[in-house]
Amino acid sequence: MKFATKVLHAGIHPDPTTGAIMTPIYQTSTYVQEAPGKHKGYEYARTQNPTRDVLQENLAALENGNHALCFASGLAATDAVVKLLNSGDEVICSDDVYGGTYRIFTKVFERYGIKFKFIPLTDASDFAKHITPATKMVWLETPSNPMMSIIDIEEIASIAHQTDMLVCVDNTFASPYLQNPLDMGADIVIHSVTKYLGGHSDVVMGALVMNQEQIFEQLKFLQNACGAIPSPHDCFLVLRGVKTLHIRMDRHCVNAAKVVDFLLSHPKVDKVYYPGIPSHKNHLIAKKQMRGFGGMISFTLKGNNIDDAMKVLSGTKLFSLAESLGGVESLIGHPASMTHASIPKEEREQRGLLDSLIRLSVGIEDVGDLIGDLQQAIG
Ligand SMILES: *Cc1c(COP(=O)(O)O)cnc(C)c1O
Repeated sequence: MKFATKVLHAGIHPDPTTGAIMTPIYQTSTYVQEAPGKHKGYEYARTQNPTRDVLQENLAALENGNHALCFASGLAATDAVVKLLNSGDEVICSDDVYGGTYRIFTKVFERYGIKFKFIPLTDASDFAKHITPATKMVWLETPSNPMMSIIDIEEIASIAHQTDMLVCVDNTFASPYLQNPLDMGADIVIHSVTKYLGGHSDVVMGALVMNQEQIFEQLKFLQNACGAIPSPHDCFLVLRGVKTLHIRMDRHCVNAAKVVDFLLSHPKVDKVYYPGIPSHKNHLIAKKQMRGFGGMISFTLKGNNIDDAMKVLSGTKLFSLAESLGGVESLIGHPASMTHASIPKEEREQRGLLDSLIRLSVGIEDVGDLIGDLQQAIG
């Protein structure tokens, strides 16, 4: 099956009892057994739920993986992955990661004796010299949030797999429509389903996709043992959202490319960060590993004045000022004070995350209207 068919059909079958074409919401906490241990494969809804099963099968197919597991949020999925490790293990993490990922690593798991090293990873050749015998995982996000850095997944995976390290890729920004890390050697793909997969800003959810049976069994154990599962109703909403993922992503890409052209020609705009721009540091890697450049853009203003940025942020009418991304409607955000406020200012600025940096999640509205809105807000 090709992608556009998978979003509609992979794992999805008419309901066996009624023929309902839509997967029912199995809103139940338990399942009746005929005799102790004699049941239809379902015992308790933390462990298994038919609506969740269908979504998991669908998401696995979209990432070309054998298995998927859904969690109550993207960070709950991250939490499960780190719990594969033991105290004393080390993780090498790309330095421009989602603020919440940075927070759970440094504020939660460091207390349990797991060490995290944040390095750029945008030069894969740099990676090997940070590996020690204790390094058990490399975690990377590409394109990254909010600097739109690109990391060569294939290169990092081939270096990592010279040891027994796990390669985890946060594929939230690209979505499985634009990039499939498992095909490039990743062991685990993580999604904040909240974003493009859900696509309608109405669900918080996370997912993990993998090929190897052993990793799947360990993560499935953690999903049940730690219990951060999504509700059946949310699984239904995501199954519904995913059906249009390919169409939405195509429009996100087209609209974002036009917004980038507008920003590049604007006299008040300083830098524009988008992997589709030929002068982007790793544009060629993006071209190699992505089928499109996505809907996320960051830019700074000349003079790097926070007040100028604040005027733009509160001046847009179509772009709503909000955290999150990947929904059909356009959002504007200020990473320094919103998504990345949990990262110390000094560390932020080392990564180019300046106070005037503005992040756009370009939606699927009419692009002329979107550009008009930015034009009036930037002035
Ligand atoms: C939002 C986000 C997360 C966290 O996901 P939640 O669903 O909010 O818990 C992780 N990674 C990236 C890239 C994100 O954008």
